[in-house]
Amino acid sequence: MKTQLESALEGSITKEMAYVSAKENVELHFIAKGISEGKIVIMTREHKPPLGIGLGLTTKVNANIGTSSYGEILDETEKARIAERFGADTLCEMSMSGDIDKIRKKIFEETSIPITTVPIYQAKVEQVSSMTSKEILKTLEKHVDEGVSAVVLHTITRDMFSSVCKSSRILKMVSKGGSVTASWMIENKSENPFIENFDDVLKILYRKDVVLCLGNAMRSGCVCDEMDKLQRAEAKLNAELAKKANEANVQVIIEGAGGHISIKNIKKYIKYYKKITGERPLFVAGPLPTDIALGYDNISACVGGSIASAAGADYLCYITPSEHLSLPNIDDVREGVISCKIAAHIGDSVKFGLSEKDIKMAYMRKSHKWEEQFKLAIDGGEKAEKYHPERYGACTMCGKYCAIDFIENTVRKLKNKKIKK
Ligand code: SF4
Repeated sequence: MKTQLESALEGSITKEMAYVSAKENVELHFIAKGISEGKIVIMTREHKPPLGIGLGLTTKVNANIGTSSYGEILDETEKARIAERFGADTLCEMSMSGDIDKIRKKIFEETSIPITTVPIYQAKVEQVSSMTSKEILKTLEKHVDEGVSAVVLHTITRDMFSSVCKSSRILKMVSKGGSVTASWMIENKSENPFIENFDDVLKILYRKDVVLCLGNAMRSGCVCDEMDKLQRAEAKLNAELAKKANEANVQVIIEGAGGHISIKNIKKYIKYYKKITGERPLFVAGPLPTDIALGYDNISACVGGSIASAAGADYLCYITPSEHLSLPNIDDVREGVISCKIAAHIGDSVKFGLSEKDIKMAYMRKSHKWEEQFKLAIDGGEKAEKYHPERYGACTMCGKYCAIDFIENTVRKLKNKKIKK
């Protein structure tokens, strides 16, 4: 089997490229060219629709699910279903307790969108410290063989870890994948197992055309911690690894500009990551432009994600209202997905211009066509219907003082007067 990248480089068109081209309403040659240049990736999952991410395509939304040291298989499965139902484009299954293999299997059975995993999480639960780097790669291989669409690997080096510990950052490192990878490196007095065995990693991913997501372990954990030399070092390293992966016909997504970023810097950082990585697809967690929206971090991320998407981020990771507080519940997952969908949609309105849906909504609002408004709503109208169950006339916000009705009636009267004249 040839990978999407290999096919694109050979000038062959795959059925997945054709699917993405039709779905995104983008020329087929543009998709093939984007893949061949590493600027677009296609995530695949057996017998499920493929997904294009990258340059010139709509901004995609990811929902993280999975147990931490808390959580139940049934909840995580339901969260996965809810995330897909409310429009998540991908899921990242990150379980770290319970029967992880069983949770992953169940999520595969219950969903049809691409699934990403972070294999080091499962390796950690299965005693990462006593594992050799080859055994860690076995976990990666297992996920690949089970049919994941992408994997996240963190490329933190010993140098980066020692520098981050000595840095003046308030929050030294907030990446779980980065800290788990670093803990193995420290305990084993070794370098990063994925970088040291990068050729083997690429061989494993190449076999099933699994997309490599190069993690953002050095992201900032608060808005006070600005972009520093550690973030730049990670971006530079990931850019080099991405090049190497592409040369081995493995598709790559770069994670960067995530975490907490002061609003004035979001656009600048997105441009930096896109430039340094040769415009490879950029996956951004958040970013959160304020640290005080505790309990409302989905809203903060919606603001940050809108700016990031508008500036060129291709793929956003949702943040739920329970971020920094607890493992999200099912309602948090729904709120997180919808908030992130709003951010992606706003970003796309800058990338591609106002959507037909926005324009249609204005007309439907003008004529109080509530059913149509609900259908156009980002969540399918579920929440809106509860606020306005009557489905006719003006709403109770202004009642008989409805500004829309007042203007419409006035315009009608003026028109009638003109006709009479
Ligand atoms: S009543 Fe007010 S809020 Fe409701 S539709 Fe009319 S103008 Fe809009």
